[in-house]
Amino acid sequence: MILIFSAPSGSGKSTLVQHLLDTRQDMELSISATTRAPRGKEQDGREYYFISPERFEQLISDDAFVEWEQVYKGTYYGTLKSEIDRIESAGHHVVFDIDVKGGINVKRLFGDKARAIFIAPPSIDALRERLTKRGTDSPEKIEERLAKAEIELADAPLFDTILVNDDLNATKAALDKEIAAFIG
Ligand code: ADP
Ligand code: 5GP
Repeated sequence: MILIFSAPSGSGKSTLVQHLLDTRQDMELSISATTRAPRGKEQDGREYYFISPERFEQLISDDAFVEWEQVYKGTYYGTLKSEIDRIESAGHHVVFDIDVKGGINVKRLFGDKARAIFIAPPSIDALRERLTKRGTDSPEKIEERLAKAEIELADAPLFDTILVNDDLNATKAALDKEIAAFIG
């Protein structure tokens, strides 16, 4: 099975995906390739495969991606076919942490085998506050992410489920219920 998590940046998607991975041994995160630089303690092959734009473009022409997007101007992100094979060979369900457009594309590709979950913030103001507190992005990057968030929220109805992440513990409980209903 495939679980897709998409959300405007800062909604709490990484936090919720981490909760799922910590509590379920049968799930594994699909590690994307990206051309952005590692942030903080991020390591190559753990959060992402950090690669050069030239290498990314080579992989596009080799048809090595399930999907890829230029999520932010000049920054590519994509899921390698080899990554899905790796996780499925291990007998695990695949968890996608992916942008909204990518989430919709992956849902289209996998149909009923996939459950697409949209994590929404309680409001744009709450989103700004979380991104500021997280402290990983410059004020310009935060404004870029917020502008994108407003557009992404309009696509939420295309997902199988929308979880509004207001109180974190309540959202975790709602997520557990959702996963149990889908996978058992
Ligand atoms: P995303 O992966 O969607 O960009 P994160 O999981 O990094 O978002 O969360 C953004 C910030 O908001 C983090 O600092 C996180 O600890 C915090 N956060 C997550 N969920 C909540 C919540 N329900 N209430 C308040 N803060 C939250
Ligand atoms: P960040 O730079 O914060 O790690 O990620 C930025 C956005 O890119 C997030 O919404 C993340 O989910 C998305 N993303 C990560 N990997 C992929 C991918 O393989 N494909 C697509 N389309 N988006 C991705």
